[in-house]
Amino acid sequence: MTIADTSDPYVFAPAPVPTLPIRGTSKLFPVHRIYCVGRNFADHAVEMGHDPDREPPFFFQKNPDTLVLSGRDFPYPPASRDVHHEIELVVALSKGGQDIAPEAAMEHVFGYAVGLDMTRRDLQGEAKRMGRPWETGKAFEASAPCTAIVPASDVGDIAAGAIELRVNGQLRQSGDLNQMIWKIPDMIAHLSGLFELRAGDLIFSGTPAGVGAVARGDELVGTVAGVGELRTRVV
Ligand code: MN
Repeated sequence: MTIADTSDPYVFAPAPVPTLPIRGTSKLFPVHRIYCVGRNFADHAVEMGHDPDREPPFFFQKNPDTLVLSGRDFPYPPASRDVHHEIELVVALSKGGQDIAPEAAMEHVFGYAVGLDMTRRDLQGEAKRMGRPWETGKAFEASAPCTAIVPASDVGDIAAGAIELRVNGQLRQSGDLNQMIWKIPDMIAHLSGLFELRAGDLIFSGTPAGVGAVARGDELVGTVAGVGELRTRVV
């Protein structure tokens, strides 16, 4: 006979809570969910073969444990020969809710970060053709490199500003946040009509044109004006 240990309810140790550092404090940002906006820049929608005037942006998710902090390596994932970079502004929420009005949306924002929505484009393309979900293309291990979060009060106006990605020093993606089809209040309002948002949610807000394949050894440097710089090396 064994005596139950009531001090620990789990059959094995639970996975740690995914977190991001916050610039200017030693406290951590505990991540709840990662939402991503698809085709939020018209020029990227066009390069992917879609008409942004006919199809509005939409959402998908990545798992929170796919985050990799900027400065760490990005391990080239298995089962793909066409892994693409997508540089994105990340919006971090400190307050949740449902059916949030656009006018009230910015009160829910804790801060911003620079992220990469790394994508197995070949698997995503196959999923699109077959009418299947996108997880294999989007939610693989280490698919969400991200910087520390910068508090919104330190960033100020985020409605415009350059968003860029360089690979081995060469400019590959270049856009401006003012080109986003759904601005930050719109994406929070739309998202909160579909899901109950929570403190700790991250929103990867979409990528400008110029997405392309990475190879082992590539050095990726992404910037969003006023937010920061993300660095990772493909290994
Ligand atoms: Mn994306």
